[in-house]
Amino acid sequence: MNRVALTFDNGPDERATALVLDALGRADVRATFFVVGSRITAAGMRLLRRAVDEGHLIGNHTWSHSGPLGEMTSREAVAEIARTGDLIAGLAASPPLFRPVGGGEGGVIDRRLLNTGCVEHLRVQGYTTVLWNVVPRDWIDPDGWVETAMTLSGDIDHACVVLHDIHAAARLDDYLARLRERGTDFTQEFPAECTPILAGRSGDIRGIVSD
Ligand SMILES: [Zn+2]
Repeated sequence: MNRVALTFDNGPDERATALVLDALGRADVRATFFVVGSRITAAGMRLLRRAVDEGHLIGNHTWSHSGPLGEMTSREAVAEIARTGDLIAGLAASPPLFRPVGGGEGGVIDRRLLNTGCVEHLRVQGYTTVLWNVVPRDWIDPDGWVETAMTLSGDIDHACVVLHDIHAAARLDDYLARLRERGTDFTQEFPAECTPILAGRSGDIRGIVSD
């Protein structure tokens, strides 16, 4: 059985996040939204409440999404996490979830993801840090990402797929139908390999932390 955890990053977006929630609702699938604090308008906050009401999880994806935290000072990086953490505290999953901003043109897992200061903050606050193992690059290929995602997750027992509200919404019905057809077991649990810090306890984080 192929288990798939779907994650939607970089929202909320007033139009796209509503479309994503509609599609997930039609398919009876629960997912996780990693949100950017500075993008949460009043309407965005209502969408996040709706998401929680509909069984989805809300996680922290930095305040400004201005780049990998490992390229900032520890003070700046901690502020990126804490400011959004405070804003979504009433809606956030328990334990709280954090997804770092990928390096390069996006999606790259390397030592730029975190620095020692923000690792300490994530530990103390009891965060689970959620990485990924399937990146269909919907931001580059808004038409073709569904095929890419099906191929990339085909051989993975437990996939954690990175999508983005604004790029994935249009083809989401199609993607969910194809996963369902393949017998996918949709889950909100993340693969162990994608959670190097779990409820504040860190495993092997050497590859994702700069000095
Ligand atoms: Zn992002």
